[in-house]
Amino acid sequence: MANQSEVIDRLRATFRSGMTIPEQFRMNQLQKLLSLVEENEQLIIDALHKDLHKPKFESVLSEIQITLNDLYFAIENLRTWMQPEYNIGKNLATRMDECFIRREPLGVVLIIGAWNYPLHLILLPLVAAIAAGNCVILKPSEICQATEQLLAELIPKYLSQDCYAVLCGGAEETKSLLKNRFDHIFYTGSQAVARSILLAAAPHLTPVTLELGGKSPCFIYGRIDIQKAARRLCWSKFFNTGQSCVAPDYVLCTVETRDALLPAIQETLLSFYGSDPGEGPDMGRIVTLRHWRRLVDMLRKSKGKVVIGGDSREEDKYIAPTVLVDVPEADSLMQEEIFGPILPILTIESLEEGIDYINRQEKPLALYVFSDESSVVSTVLNNTSSGGFCGNDGIVHMALPGLPFGGVGASGMGSYHGRWGFETFSHRRSCMNRSWLLEMVNVLRYPPYSEYNLGCPLPMSFASV
Ligand code: NAD
Repeated sequence: MANQSEVIDRLRATFRSGMTIPEQFRMNQLQKLLSLVEENEQLIIDALHKDLHKPKFESVLSEIQITLNDLYFAIENLRTWMQPEYNIGKNLATRMDECFIRREPLGVVLIIGAWNYPLHLILLPLVAAIAAGNCVILKPSEICQATEQLLAELIPKYLSQDCYAVLCGGAEETKSLLKNRFDHIFYTGSQAVARSILLAAAPHLTPVTLELGGKSPCFIYGRIDIQKAARRLCWSKFFNTGQSCVAPDYVLCTVETRDALLPAIQETLLSFYGSDPGEGPDMGRIVTLRHWRRLVDMLRKSKGKVVIGGDSREEDKYIAPTVLVDVPEADSLMQEEIFGPILPILTIESLEEGIDYINRQEKPLALYVFSDESSVVSTVLNNTSSGGFCGNDGIVHMALPGLPFGGVGASGMGSYHGRWGFETFSHRRSCMNRSWLLEMVNVLRYPPYSEYNLGCPLPMSFASV
């Protein structure tokens, strides 16, 4: 990345020229991004298969369709989002003034992606940054090399090279990139690296969005159709081989529910992946040997009892869908985000015990409650905090562009998807054009000050009209 600062300078000059501001320009680039995804679907599927052994179905659903969805949504709503907002409460002293909020682009922004959804974690923030009128540097994850290379090849082919650039590289190149001044940094990845992103942003006072992970709990509690629950749980846990930031990390349930759930999970896995998931086409692989070893090591050292799966194969980085019970709290499976196809089931005696357990941990990115009893769902919702929440399913809440996606506390800061991404990459500039009228009211604020005038409608007083 020898030419990092040259690229940034080029983009900054473009931004200063105002090229990215007009609606027509933003719309045109969004349309081109749409063509990029639509015309290269097979290349994308092939790259994801090479990197993660992703089944075509999962690539289409969670990389291609989710990106297209967000693009359609942005294209449909761009004009509305860009309109200045005039619906501002005024008081008597400001009633003749023009008060509005303009959404303005931030400038040259940096988007750093993670490897687990290497396409959508780059393209979804890009949709938002283009819609908001920014110039963008994209830094895809180096771990998924085929997708990284494909992005580096396609983005300059479809989008304006004066406004958008892909810079490839790993930790060292990213650290060097971060020495430059950006107007916003949008980072997706681990909590450990997020700390160094914040440190790098501090000297420039650059605002940062952090899309991180954590241990997302899944309650299965009270009256429930256990077969349905097992299917939704297994799909959301083992999708992308468990390498989803919003995958249910562990289950909390009573002993009775656990005893009913285990055979239901076994039956579900058989129907999803056949008797040997490693032989079928629908189970992906762990991204690298380093990540595979971390997971196998956690499994090997765990004091919990493997009751389903447990097999692994180094040669193709395979780990079978695995379920454990009796996992102690101190186990590394319960201390670290798992981020793989391993599911501990913890037993609790009451809902309150489960809620207490969750509230003792860092705030998770997602929280799931499966129950037929709405009081169970609302009790958990009302007594916990998490980035997102989904009752009776896993993962799917993140696919709706109307819902903001992001963490809270240690699972991240800021959000995106749909309008929320547009807001993240915009500055809300508050504007007031004062009228020369109503001077009789306005003079009340001038010296010599009087106690009497403090009771009058001054510009800072609350009363609205
Ligand atoms: P990763 O290794 O791909 O790293 C993410 C990015 O950080 C990469 O582009 C990488 O080049 C860069 N990077 C790595 N080390 C760096 C350093 N020292 N300095 C600067 N940049 C550096 O991905 P990861 O960190 O292993 O990602 C997995 C984590 O991301 C999990 O915790 C997961 O939950 C989280 N995640 C969150 C979301 C979300 O949307 N909230 C989505 C996906 C993943």
